[in-house]
Amino acid sequence: MNNQRGFLAELFTSHQGEGSWLGLRQIFLRLAGCRRKCQYCDSRWARPARLKQWKFYRPESGPRPVRLKNPVSAVETVDYLEEIIQQTGPFHSLAITGGEPLEQPKFLEALTRIFKTRFPKMRILLETNGLCPLPSARLKGYIDFMAVDIKLKSACGYAVGFKKYKEFLSSLSWTAGCIKAIISPSSMLKEIEAAAKLARQFRPEWDFILQPVTGKQWNSIKNQRVLELLSQKALEINPRARIIPQVHRLMGIK
Ligand code: SF4
Repeated sequence: MNNQRGFLAELFTSHQGEGSWLGLRQIFLRLAGCRRKCQYCDSRWARPARLKQWKFYRPESGPRPVRLKNPVSAVETVDYLEEIIQQTGPFHSLAITGGEPLEQPKFLEALTRIFKTRFPKMRILLETNGLCPLPSARLKGYIDFMAVDIKLKSACGYAVGFKKYKEFLSSLSWTAGCIKAIISPSSMLKEIEAAAKLARQFRPEWDFILQPVTGKQWNSIKNQRVLELLSQKALEINPRARIIPQVHRLMGIK
């Protein structure tokens, strides 16, 4: 299991720019591979499952990454994480993002288990699109927080049946988390209504976050009105509703 190998996309440090853990200082491990094609995807280059190389923003190498070969074992990956922690810690947590991390379930299990054994006080946040096979119960105790995206057709460009999300969210009683719905100026009230109901029904203890898609202008009168109506509808249904934009992109940081 320790020799489980996986495909990485990049490793860097920054501050969490989305969701309920906004602003926390984290190490970001982006895994390669995602079968989806969201219109707003800002990590398209990381979608191929078998990326030949990955980018390591080594603390001593400045802003230019070192390019290293894939695949990498879970132990080696935790060695790289340890290098960062020793040189530039402390960090609140490790954020595992993608791509879609749950497309490499065995590697994810090995990686989180070894990381938690070495760094029991560090928390782990997992970002997922919620459209993969259900996360293994073996992740219990390793993942502290799960940020689940709900895909709305108006923003991502393709339709997803909510049945999949129902199964996924109802299986997550063992972790804390938040649910994010990316919204665009063309998002519809009925989509928000359905997403807010889903979140309230299956994870009422989690924040339900509307995340305005970055790069669209929201300051026209018309779009402000859309935002207002979507937020109003979400809160009518789900008392955990709030709006949080991608703060790292507003700040121009990674
Ligand atoms: S699920 Fe995430 S990584 Fe995959 S295409 Fe959508 S935004 Fe990109």
